[in-house]
Amino acid sequence: MLAFLLKQTLKNEVLDLDTRELLMHLSKLENGLDRYSFTELNTNEANRLKKSFESFKNGLEEKVFGMPTPEPVEVSLKNKKVKSKPLEDHSMIAKVSHEIRTPLNGIVGFIDLLKETELSPKQQELIKALDTASGNLTDIINELLEFSKLASGHETFENVPFNLKNLITEVAFLCETLITDSQVELSVHLDKNLPEQLLGDPSKLSQILLNLLGNAVKFVEKGKISLEAVLKSDQQNRVYVEFLVADTGIGIANDKLQRIFESYKQAEDDTQLKYGGSGLGLSIVKELVDRMDGLIAVKSALGAGSTFKVTLPFEKTKKQDIALPKRPGKSVPRSLKHAKILVFEDNVLNQQLMENRLKSWGCKPFITDNGLYGLQLLENHEFDLVLMDLRMPKMNGFQITECIRQNRHDHIRTVPIIALTADFSIADKEYCKRIGITDYILKPYNADELQRTMQELIAEREKQSEREISQINIGQASALINLNLLYEECMGEKDTLTELIQLFKKNMYEFIGNVRMHLTNNDSRGIGFAVHKIKSSLKMLEATTLAQICSKLTEASDAAAYEALEKYYKQFLNEYPKVEEAIDIELNKL
Ligand code: ADP
Repeated sequence: MLAFLLKQTLKNEVLDLDTRELLMHLSKLENGLDRYSFTELNTNEANRLKKSFESFKNGLEEKVFGMPTPEPVEVSLKNKKVKSKPLEDHSMIAKVSHEIRTPLNGIVGFIDLLKETELSPKQQELIKALDTASGNLTDIINELLEFSKLASGHETFENVPFNLKNLITEVAFLCETLITDSQVELSVHLDKNLPEQLLGDPSKLSQILLNLLGNAVKFVEKGKISLEAVLKSDQQNRVYVEFLVADTGIGIANDKLQRIFESYKQAEDDTQLKYGGSGLGLSIVKELVDRMDGLIAVKSALGAGSTFKVTLPFEKTKKQDIALPKRPGKSVPRSLKHAKILVFEDNVLNQQLMENRLKSWGCKPFITDNGLYGLQLLENHEFDLVLMDLRMPKMNGFQITECIRQNRHDHIRTVPIIALTADFSIADKEYCKRIGITDYILKPYNADELQRTMQELIAEREKQSEREISQINIGQASALINLNLLYEECMGEKDTLTELIQLFKKNMYEFIGNVRMHLTNNDSRGIGFAVHKIKSSLKMLEATTLAQICSKLTEASDAAAYEALEKYYKQFLNEYPKVEEAIDIELNKL
């Protein structure tokens, strides 16, 4: 192909003898490699050969043309990087897309709410148009954001255990939700020999498959789509899995096969007009596959359909690596219908997956990747549950949780939070517990498990609110403090712990003085603020009794109830010396 291209491009030029000879050798070499590559792609030799051939080819192209030629009309593409624009371009695009995405999510949310109101036929028509336009815009913005992240090298790849079968089931579910025509059929086949668990990046794998399946859905009006995962090679520590996404759709002309992997390029000039799209999906897929050390190939015939083949290496893992911990206690399942769920999630595909999944259960999902916006939503709506992606840019899930748990409103502070994470270390687990994450699920999540956990927590919360919860158990020795968490934070350094304890005591004296002053000045807001400032320290020491008194102080300060403020302040004064004594005893024991 390279030889063919060179000949094509140079056809008007007189080739000297050396060039002719070089082309002949190249042609032979390339034919040989072609036979090799996809039948034996997992052999190291083939990959090495291909790599060195490609770097030679690139060097030659640069010499001949001054710049690399486009990829030849070859169905397999490997390690040919999408040409990156300067970094500033990408960070600019990323910034702008991000800024647009937040209000756009709001618009989409409001359109959803509008759809639920009484609308005249004309209004319904307009809303439908708005819905389609905002949906298209969201897709484009999301793709731009994704592409710029990838091209700027800011995208990180995880290496975590995941369940391949669950992932394929979720991807297939989402694909089904995209198929709106009953004349299109999806079939899924998973090789029985594939290991159940693998190590890799499940989000990126879902993204690759969903992009390919999304295209298949778009370009098949009537016919079949299939997703197949086959064990291509099983080596000592790793496996190569081949994913085949095939469709019987419009197909792609041979001479256009190459360009579809380039950014902003579509097969035909009228593709955008007929089918929409930005021409970025396959560039993203190719970049992801390259970065995961995989291969991608496409075969297509116009009018007959296309098959995309992605081969990826994964490390093997043991099943127990991702065994889920047992949750203490059980509660009565309850229907999730109409439950309002706030989802913090930044991965676009996971957002889509979650939205479809929750809607199919009758829930009302509100999805955002923006911590502050989500916290604002919590202030304005009463949510039944929060689903929290822990790893997000800007404010991460841990930080958002801490803000929620320190909120002064009971209904916000106590909302159940389920962490969704692909990667969970023991330290994360401890941290989650400490900051008040109620439960967690590993990604790619198993839908049944998610549903069960959500039902349990919502039911539990309902029961909880029926109980009398405002009792304060003052004076119970066990509720006074626990220095273990702080000691762990100090990595077992007693000196650091002693210093922190001194600081804690100082803060408490300041607090006592400040509240006295605010009470004299009738400044309930000042008291609220003073309480807010010491809350995290109380939590850190698990000073439960003091924390409970502080919750009461917050409620009383919100209501500017001075009598209650006096009462709880006195309780605090009574209680604090006991806590200080308990701290000193604990400290001496360490
Ligand atoms: P987009 O779908 O947003 O246009 P992509 O990069 O995903 O961008 O795809 C680029 C082009 O490749 C599409 O516009 C279409 O012309 C072609 N294409 C991709 N997948 C298929 C398919 N399954 N069947 C037919 N054409 C396809």
